[in-house]
Amino acid sequence: MINEPLLNLNDVFNLEDDFPLMLISKTKIESQNIASCIQTHSSNVQYIDKPGVYKDTDGIVTHLNNKIPLVIQTADCVPIFILDNNKGFIGLVHSGWKGTSKSIILSALSIFFDRGSDANDIKVYLGPCIKSCCYEIKNDVAKFFDEKFLNKNKNQIFLDLESKIKSDLLSIGVKNSNIFKSNICTYENKNFCSYRRDNKKAGRMYSIINL
Ligand SMILES: [Zn+2]
Repeated sequence: MINEPLLNLNDVFNLEDDFPLMLISKTKIESQNIASCIQTHSSNVQYIDKPGVYKDTDGIVTHLNNKIPLVIQTADCVPIFILDNNKGFIGLVHSGWKGTSKSIILSALSIFFDRGSDANDIKVYLGPCIKSCCYEIKNDVAKFFDEKFLNKNKNQIFLDLESKIKSDLLSIGVKNSNIFKSNICTYENKNFCSYRRDNKKAGRMYSIINL
């Protein structure tokens, strides 16, 4: 699994640049071989066996034999990397507050299970994202989450996306010891892209999974 979402990509390229060209120049991955998503903060996840750009989906799953690097983009949302090294499936999911509240991770894992994966073999990595230290929300968002995923003090509510995702994973039998996460909060670490910090000027982090 690669957690190297081309960290400084936006220092080198403008967002308007052609994304596949960026990948070629930075990773030597060939653009015609990748699969990416036009993300819509949905809970849609697709199994794919051909490279290309997939519409209205926020997660993609494939088999390693297809040799398709999967790509998603985030700026504060959680990039979730999924691996079943036994059956040979990989997946990549974009999980913002909407996707997390709709348990997009479970949509992704249902594809793994439908294809024969065992929960014991699933490994998951939650990449750099905005963490509960910095992710202040209002009631319009908080109402979609169980209290246990909210950290409240007097006038503020902070959302813990990672703990909701982890709770979903544990609920379907993924082992705690197979759940990994980055220590980086994208809001705090200026090497990472944060929509909350930089608003419309924010770049995007590209996460790639390719074994
Ligand atoms: Zn933080």
